[in-house]
Amino acid sequence: MGFPAHRLRRLRKNGNMRRMVRETGLSVDDFVQPLFVVEGQGVRKEIASIAGNYHLSIDMLVEEAKELGDLGIPAILLFGIPNGKDDKATGAYAPDGIVQRAVKAVKHAVPDMVVITDVCLCEHTTHGHCGIIRNGYIANDPTTEIVAKIALSHVEAGADIVAPAGMMDGQIRAIRGTLEEHGHHEAVIMAYAAKYASGLYEPFFRHGTQSPVAFGDKRSHQMDFANSTEAMREIALDIEEGADIIMIKPALFYLDVVYRARERFDQPLAVYNVSGEYAMIQAASEAGRLDFEAVMQEALVSCRRAGADIVISYYAKDAARTLGKASYPWRAAHPLPAAEADAASLDGNGRGVSPLDVEVRK
Ligand SMILES: [Zn+2]
Repeated sequence: MGFPAHRLRRLRKNGNMRRMVRETGLSVDDFVQPLFVVEGQGVRKEIASIAGNYHLSIDMLVEEAKELGDLGIPAILLFGIPNGKDDKATGAYAPDGIVQRAVKAVKHAVPDMVVITDVCLCEHTTHGHCGIIRNGYIANDPTTEIVAKIALSHVEAGADIVAPAGMMDGQIRAIRGTLEEHGHHEAVIMAYAAKYASGLYEPFFRHGTQSPVAFGDKRSHQMDFANSTEAMREIALDIEEGADIIMIKPALFYLDVVYRARERFDQPLAVYNVSGEYAMIQAASEAGRLDFEAVMQEALVSCRRAGADIVISYYAKDAARTLGKASYPWRAAHPLPAAEADAASLDGNGRGVSPLDVEVRK
């Protein structure tokens, strides 16, 4: 058996044939767009290392949320850059904090938009660490108390989903308990369940939230990137503590972890395609080494193929626009374009490349 009974190329002959047997789809439904909100008015300043993404004042954030909603993107993930910081991150749970005001404004203007908030101390601490520091170490339990306060303040401002990012033990339990106690039974928790200590966050911290750590690193709470069995324990614990959605971060170097989690857990699974992953592809395409749009699609589909339901990505807006284009090969227009229809004339030696494939690599 085998060859020539089976020629796998038969099913790759043209665009429609490939479309019929394609295993993984990509839709705007899958996307979450991260957004950075700053103080001020009329601010829309591009973040150089995550080009195409911006620091937005609340008024401009609302405009952006409307635009994303019009593109069909169901959710945004908010990061706040406050003016003032201290060593206990008190600004993070202030009712009139930058994130709380931003959530209110977006929910008022675009009520259907699912607003997810990043819940951590690091954007609000002077030292840039994710917790309260005692004797040079992040004290876990005092930190989770603050994490729960932050989450509560976001939900009270109107956030639909809180996403605790600090990798403190027991933080999901602390948040769930606090939310239940205050009657917020419907609030969703998206846990950064397996978040790795990764060099790929650099553009985010340096230019995105502008909160690099003043000393040390984050390896005492974020996961060692050499481990994946441990990730299963992290995820299992977060589910047990009350997480509704689990997340793995970063995405592309960690698709084995995504796949393992998909096989093992029935919970909705998100991946965070982080700033460094975005920046690598961006920089390479700017240098003429890669086609941005083609590699973007490959990256996003890879996340879905590995098993992610939700893809948080700086590409989300770009990808939503691409998906809406008639030339996007996965949405080939009907009836078949003339050039596509003659694919039957291809013999075994034909390249079998449709004009639509060429289009996407323009
Ligand atoms: Zn943090």
